[in-house]
Amino acid sequence: MGTIVCQDCNSTISHFEDEKVSTLYGRCLNCECEKTEIKR
Ligand SMILES: [Zn+2]
Repeated sequence: MGTIVCQDCNSTISHFEDEKVSTLYGRCLNCECEKTEIKR
């Protein structure tokens, strides 16, 4: 299972299906950011 974590506040945003455990970084809605960018 993969986890999407906010790169600003380190809070867990959501989970997604994945064969292995992995972490993606984005921004949650609580942070002041117009768009979400997913970075590996
Ligand atoms: Zn955040």
